[in-house]
Amino acid sequence: MFYGHYCGAWIIKVLEPRIPLWILMVAVQFVDFLFSLFVLLGIEEVNVVRGFTKVNDLNLVSVPYTHSLIAVIGWSIVYGLLYRYSGYGGGNRAVFLVGLAVLSHWPEDLLVHDKDLLLLTIDDSRSKYGFGLWNYPKVFYPIEILLFYGSFYYYFVNTEVHPSKLHITHTTQPTQPCMANKWAIILLLDSLGTHFFSEYLDPPKNCKLLVSIMLLLYIKTAYFSHKLDKVRVTRHNNCISEKLKLLNE
Ligand SMILES: [Zn+2]
Repeated sequence: MFYGHYCGAWIIKVLEPRIPLWILMVAVQFVDFLFSLFVLLGIEEVNVVRGFTKVNDLNLVSVPYTHSLIAVIGWSIVYGLLYRYSGYGGGNRAVFLVGLAVLSHWPEDLLVHDKDLLLLTIDDSRSKYGFGLWNYPKVFYPIEILLFYGSFYYYFVNTEVHPSKLHITHTTQPTQPCMANKWAIILLLDSLGTHFFSEYLDPPKNCKLLVSIMLLLYIKTAYFSHKLDKVRVTRHNNCISEKLKLLNE
């Protein structure tokens, strides 16, 4: 799963608008961020095996420090504490939701991975789990698409462009809606492009190159969502829109 992980970020952003969207986008992929770094550092091991599953060529040989359930629980606490002392708002509720965003990664991976996920241990010789939906593309793709685009739609209809970004005055017309929504359009086109390329292009055989590309994809998506977050606010939080209505009357 790649884009499906972002589901939690879109939903939590609506539930708790004080959390910056980029922090949530990093949170839901936090263990994959660490996984990529740990592979680059030689701490965890992955091989690229053509046809390993029907959707994904990654054979996760040893990923106990990022993808065991106990490790993900630990990382969600660490990330929550980082948020707690970051100075961003929302209090304990936000800290809990940020931690939950990190934790959401594991059950989604459990659905799609081959049997490579440990539970409450980092002992690689113990039983590993995974329901293997990557071997059933007709089941996997609808779930991935529904999770990402469904939750993005939920975010989109529950937020609106911040009026101050439209540069509205008594005399000028607002910026065209498509310009105001350009980062939403970029995000959608980017996700479609990534799906297309991952489907029709073979990934590099060098696993360190592959995880470096994955890191760039995660950073790029967090950056695009940060730009989107700067121009949108949740509808129930947008008291400025009330002022805008008065201004236009
Ligand atoms: Zn993962």
